[in-house]
Amino acid sequence: MGTKGREIVGVNIKELLALMNKAYADEWLAYYQYWVGAKVAVGRMRGIIAKELEQHAEEEHKHAGMLVERMIQLGGTPILKPEDWMKETNCGYDVPSDPDTKKLLAQNIKGEQCAITTYKKLLDFVKGKDDLTEKIVLEILADEVEHEEDLQAMLDDMKAPVK
Ligand code: FE
Ligand code: FE
Ligand code: MG
Repeated sequence: MGTKGREIVGVNIKELLALMNKAYADEWLAYYQYWVGAKVAVGRMRGIIAKELEQHAEEEHKHAGMLVERMIQLGGTPILKPEDWMKETNCGYDVPSDPDTKKLLAQNIKGEQCAITTYKKLLDFVKGKDDLTEKIVLEILADEVEHEEDLQAMLDDMKAPVK
């Protein structure tokens, strides 16, 4: 770990790393929830929705990569055991046991809303104190807001009366 790079961080790094690892657990669980949801999806607009879920899965995977890179820069260790994802997660894992597209959308919207809350808290924690983490967190937060918006728009479309 670069000494100077660490010196400019104005928050308790241990505390920050704990928060980042929790978000990291969320990302892997979100990744899998989207990825497997896209596979099992059935019902209205299945093709379009599965595609969107797949794209979101990829983006959650990218977020995990962004977090891990910064955690390592900060001298941290990412969660190494998948079973710890469930212990550390903020947002949990919503089992897509009902593969109906509307249900999947509703579950994933809930997940995105939790992610938005998580990253907003993380952003407030580092704001003005750790510029590099702030930049990463802001970028992820923007993606999560877009994710919620995309899913909500699809669910609204499905609920609109057929003309
Ligand atoms: Fe994410
Ligand atoms: Fe997301
Ligand atoms: Mg999208």
